[in-house]
Amino acid sequence: MRLPTVVLMRSQHGSRLHPRLDDDLRHLPELLEATRAYAVRILRGLDERPVAGTPAPSAPSALPERGAGLAGAMETFARRWEPGFSGSAGPRYLGFVTGGATPAALAGDWLTGTLDQNPTSALDSGAQDLERETLAWLRELFGLSEEHSGIFVSGATMSNVTGLAIAREWLGEQRGVSVAEEGAAALGPVRVLSGSPHSSVGKALSMLGLGRAALRQVDVLPGREAVDVARLADELAALDGRPAIVVANAGTVNTVDFDDLRAIAELRERYPFWMHVDAAFGAFAALSPEHAHLVDGLAEADSVCVDLHKWLNVPYDGAVQFTRRRDLQARVFRNAAAYLGPLGETPDFIHLTPENSRRLRALPAWFTLAAYGREGHAEIVRRDIAMAARLGELVDAMPAYRLLAPVRLNVVCFTLAAAPERVGELAAAIAASGEAFLTPTVYDGLPALRAAFSNWRTTDADVRRVAEVLEAFRP
Ligand SMILES: *Cc1c(COP(=O)(O)O)cnc(C)c1O
Repeated sequence: MRLPTVVLMRSQHGSRLHPRLDDDLRHLPELLEATRAYAVRILRGLDERPVAGTPAPSAPSALPERGAGLAGAMETFARRWEPGFSGSAGPRYLGFVTGGATPAALAGDWLTGTLDQNPTSALDSGAQDLERETLAWLRELFGLSEEHSGIFVSGATMSNVTGLAIAREWLGEQRGVSVAEEGAAALGPVRVLSGSPHSSVGKALSMLGLGRAALRQVDVLPGREAVDVARLADELAALDGRPAIVVANAGTVNTVDFDDLRAIAELRERYPFWMHVDAAFGAFAALSPEHAHLVDGLAEADSVCVDLHKWLNVPYDGAVQFTRRRDLQARVFRNAAAYLGPLGETPDFIHLTPENSRRLRALPAWFTLAAYGREGHAEIVRRDIAMAARLGELVDAMPAYRLLAPVRLNVVCFTLAAAPERVGELAAAIAASGEAFLTPTVYDGLPALRAAFSNWRTTDADVRRVAEVLEAFRP
C-alpha cells in the first residue's frame, strides 16, 4: 500500500525517539549484559548480604527531567537503594513464609517482562494456553481433580478474595439472587466460619462487602490451631439450614496446623455450605509422601487458595485459585466489551480474573516446573521440612528457649523460656545482626518467634548459622 507523501512526512517527523531511549535502544545488548552481570553479583552475594535491615530512609530526590539513561539509572539504584534491600531471596530469611526464586523461575520472570504478554484473551497470542498448561500441572501437583479449574492471581490474599467472591455468588444462588447483578445487600446477613483464619480472610470479607463481622471463629482443638469439627458442626446446625461459607485452613502461619479437610467436607452431607480451603503454603505438603495426609480431602474443596511465591519459589508475585464452579466465577468476573468474545466452553481469562490486563504470571511457574519437575520441587519441600525439624531440635536443646508447638511441617514456633516479653527485642537484635530474619508473633497469648523454611537454597549450614545466632542473642 502506498501512503500519501504528506502522511509519510508527518510520521517521520513524529518518529524520533527521545535521545536517551535512542541511545539505550542502540546499546541494548551491552546494557542487558550489564544488568545480567549486576544480577549475578547480587545473587552471588546473597550468603553474605545482610538478611534484613531497616536503613534510614533516603531523602526523596526530584523527578528527573531528562533522565540518566539505563546505565545512569542503574548506577543510582545500586548506590541509593539496593544496599538497603533485604536478602529475602536468600536462605536465612525465615520471616513470614517467604520463598526465593529458583534459577528457572527467575529466568521465566525475566522473559515475562521481555515478552510482555497480556494473557486475557485468545485474540492475539497463545500465552493463555501456557497459563492453562501450567494450571493443569499445578492442579496435578496438589492432587486436585480435573473438575477444578484455575486462574493465576497476585498472591494468596487475592486468591482468597477470588474464592470467597465465588462463594458469595454461590450463597446468592442458594437464595435465588445474583450478587453479581444485585449487590451483596441482596444476600442479607452472611455467616463465615473458620477455626484459625489467616488475616487476609477478614480483608477479603471487607473488600467483598460481606464485612469482617461476618467471620465467626470456631473453637479449635485443645492446644491446636485446627478447628474442632464437632464445634463447627454445632455452628452449622445453629444456622437452621441457612447456607454458609466455611474457610478451612491447611497450614496456619504460627504452627502450621491443618484442619481435618475430609471431615469438614463430609459435613456438607448434613449442612449447606461452601468449602473454601486456604492452603497458601500447606498445599505443598502433598509433595512429601510422609506429609501428604495433612492435605487429605483438599480435592473435595469448592475453592482452593495456593500461593506460589512462597513454596514454589517463583519471584513475587504469583498465586493460584482453583474452583469447581467456573460458571459462578464467570458470573462474578465476566467482562463484557464489544471487542471481547463470548464466554464459550473455555472462557478467556479476562472473564475469570479480578484484573483485566495482567502479566503472564504463569511463566515463572511454568519454567520452574519444566526445569525441575515434580521431583525437584518435592526435594525442595522435603529439605525445608527437614531443616525446620533440625532447627526445632536445636532450639529444643537450648535451655533459653521453649518450643510452643511440635514442628509439623516447615515452621518452628518458639519463645524465650524465662522472658517471653523480650521476644520483640530478640527479633530486632537478630534482624540487626544481618545473619537471619525471623518474625515475631503471638501464639496462645504468648509473644513468640517463627522461623519459616520455604527457600530452595536453605541447607544444614544455614540452620547452624541460625542456631548460632539464637545462642548468641539469648538475653
Ligand atoms: C501468606 C498467606 C496468605 C496471604 O498471602 P499473600 O501472598 O501475602 O497475599 C493467606 N493465607 C495463608 C495461610 C498464608 O500463609
